[in-house]
Amino acid sequence: MTQTLPPGSKIGIIGNGQLGQMMAISATQLGYFCHVYAPNQSGPANVVAAKSFVGAYDDGEKLKEFAASVDVVTYEFENIPAAPLFEIAKRVAVYPPPQALNVAQDRLTEKNYASDLKIRPAPFRPVSSPRELSYALLELGIPSILKQRTQGYDGRGQMVVKKATDSHLAEIWSELSCKEAILEGMVKFEHEFSVLAVRDIKGQFLTWDIPANTHNNGILDHSVVPANDFILQQADAAIKATQRIADSLNYVGVLAVEFFATQFGPIFNEMAPRVHNSGHWTIEGAETSQFENHIRAVCGLPLGSTALTAERVEMKNLIGAQVNTWEKILSRRNNYLHVYGKGTARPGRKMGHVTKLVKRII
Ligand code: AMP
Repeated sequence: MTQTLPPGSKIGIIGNGQLGQMMAISATQLGYFCHVYAPNQSGPANVVAAKSFVGAYDDGEKLKEFAASVDVVTYEFENIPAAPLFEIAKRVAVYPPPQALNVAQDRLTEKNYASDLKIRPAPFRPVSSPRELSYALLELGIPSILKQRTQGYDGRGQMVVKKATDSHLAEIWSELSCKEAILEGMVKFEHEFSVLAVRDIKGQFLTWDIPANTHNNGILDHSVVPANDFILQQADAAIKATQRIADSLNYVGVLAVEFFATQFGPIFNEMAPRVHNSGHWTIEGAETSQFENHIRAVCGLPLGSTALTAERVEMKNLIGAQVNTWEKILSRRNNYLHVYGKGTARPGRKMGHVTKLVKRII
């Protein structure tokens, strides 16, 4: 499982969204063929896949069939059951290791994992009923954030708890509609940032410059590199924390860890065992993009330089109808437009992104 996969090999990607699409574009450029597995074949990744497999994410048999058609398996999102991937991993390399998925897909496991590695998350309490929620609120205070333990993304599956009355808690609990949740104390942060890292099969660990990330309604709106001084002062601690996570999981591929920059130092928010939206700027803004280095890592190739190609790089997500500004974006120099080819531009849907390079270095 540690051999190099030469160009011409087949890479299996589970998930068919824009992350899979950008991964497949990089892989194709390097001469690989991508097979994409998802419950439908109408996603952005299917457009660039050499072959599409349709099946549910928990269909062990179909996943085995898919895995038998490729030389390595990777994935583009974390809300897929880990159990079938552990099965597949007995026959073909699965990178990042399924254990990373196991940790990242449950907010409680993830936070305990970070704590065990001496990485500080927001204060949290597991909650499985309105009654437990009221006790947890007593400890963490108002406001706090109630989050589903699993399946949440882009701010979905979470609600701010602003009152502690029994009727309000019962209402919030039924609205969240899950059996298990965690309550998180509201972190007073100055900024948000992420560490984008890649680790190869031999354990070489590289990071890109740290982006400062701004979210709207829980969805990433834009990322800017380099980050401000407040964030940069916390970068070293955050990078070391990320490396501890990567090494402990014997990680292979791109790993993104989101942090809050606070007066008390970096606070761990969450990890994504995959390429990440806050790293889209690396396509034009770094010598080697997160997508290419992910492919290089899972194929056992040498990693590429993560150095910046410009003094400043800005990435703006095009959410919902914002994608309709494509003509204006294209009319400006140094703008790099990416449109994912999704259907309807629903509010809150990530339709594309634009990266702007300011003062090129390379
Ligand atoms: P998440 O999906 O957990 O990353 O949450 C989405 C966004 O909600 C984050 O990027 C923050 O802007 C905000 N958020 C989440 N958890 C907290 C917290 N404990 N304290 C303050 N803000 C939070």
